[in-house]
Amino acid sequence: MPRYADMSKAELETELAQVRARYDEMVARGLSLNMARGKPSAAQLELSLPMLDVLDADADLIAEDGTDCRNYGVLDGIPEAKRLMAALLDDEPDNVIVLGNASLTAMYDAMARLMLFGTQGAAPWNQLPAVKWLCPVPGYDRHFTICEAFGIEMIPVTMDEHGPDMDEVERLVAADEAVKGIWCVPKYSNPTGATYADEVVRRLAAMDAAAPDFRIFWDNAYAVHHFSADASEQDTVLDIAVACAEAGNPDRYLKFGSTSKITFPGAGVAAVAASPANVAEIKRHMNAQAIGHDKLNQLRHARFLNEGAGLAEHMARHGALMGPKFELVCRRLDEELTEAAVATWTTPRGGYFVSFDGPDGTARRIVELAKGAGVTMTGAGATWPYGNDPADGNIRIAPSLPPLEELDAAMDVFCCCVKLAALEQLLAA
Ligand code: PMP
Repeated sequence: MPRYADMSKAELETELAQVRARYDEMVARGLSLNMARGKPSAAQLELSLPMLDVLDADADLIAEDGTDCRNYGVLDGIPEAKRLMAALLDDEPDNVIVLGNASLTAMYDAMARLMLFGTQGAAPWNQLPAVKWLCPVPGYDRHFTICEAFGIEMIPVTMDEHGPDMDEVERLVAADEAVKGIWCVPKYSNPTGATYADEVVRRLAAMDAAAPDFRIFWDNAYAVHHFSADASEQDTVLDIAVACAEAGNPDRYLKFGSTSKITFPGAGVAAVAASPANVAEIKRHMNAQAIGHDKLNQLRHARFLNEGAGLAEHMARHGALMGPKFELVCRRLDEELTEAAVATWTTPRGGYFVSFDGPDGTARRIVELAKGAGVTMTGAGATWPYGNDPADGNIRIAPSLPPLEELDAAMDVFCCCVKLAALEQLLAA
């Protein structure tokens, strides 16, 4: 079969008739499949069920520093949980504050503190005429929602397989003191799966910023989420803390992470890691907000994951479930769409998403067609600030939740919808 772009009108019409007939068959099957959000599958959740047995009524509920985990106290986390989260965030336990159940809350709170109180003596951001934020695209919709909630103007910056376009980032950050920060998902990024190259990390740490209080929100949500247990097939990322310290900007970053996609989303442990000056400032503000977080949850996570030493083995089990799903998605895309040459997609080595780019102007139509055939995708546009993908081409594929057979059926539908939308567009032109 030739590329769609090389087909005559008559050939396109024949192909359209075939693809439409296939689509109609799929609609008639009455499927109900969901690839909208990056939720772990039931089989993945089962991997952490033994954690629920770690603490029972007979367990020792005293942390190593003598804290009774059943009672009030300890603002920044018990020592064993700090060591666990330090392993996850690639940092020292002293630089870690263990928080509640979600890193998203931690990021929202960090932004709220910057807006309300400022940082390291600089003016609170809500007293400034404008606050702007760099958003590598495609990116994570909930990051964008945080900016929108605070009235922060978002500026999209192109991502490639090495991270954000650093020439553009450096230009924007140097030119305008209203540009106060950037979202970064440095490893197995949501949704492209890209991992930042060392050079990108060094440039982020060292670039000249017009705003002295410029902040990198380093959301390492997929720090240990590899598909392969073989180190040679895993991505690594340079430590932003070390890079910032070496560049003479030690307070420029805030690292975030959680065990959401390690144990149980919504019932895990989140943390922030930062420079000593930022840790002191955050604790000062948190002192008014909380007495402490859930130490029983911290204790069982620390014990279950052996304070970080058990992470690799546990994540290898997740990887064994995730790897085949990503392999299936990329294989089906390849089988169905490579000849027609109407799309590109990423092939990550970890994380939760494949980023798909169809022909410009078709993403909304593809998602609508898929919905019509019973397959729910992430909304088109979600990967861009304000839900506005100017090319209307990007779709986030989230293969984790459905079992393999269902995923196969969903990919059948998705690929058919891509072809249908591409053909409709070519014939309308
Ligand atoms: N950051 C990124 C990049 C994510 O993809 C997700 C989950 N989809 C989160 C944060 C949410 O993490 P948490 O459950 O810790 O709030």
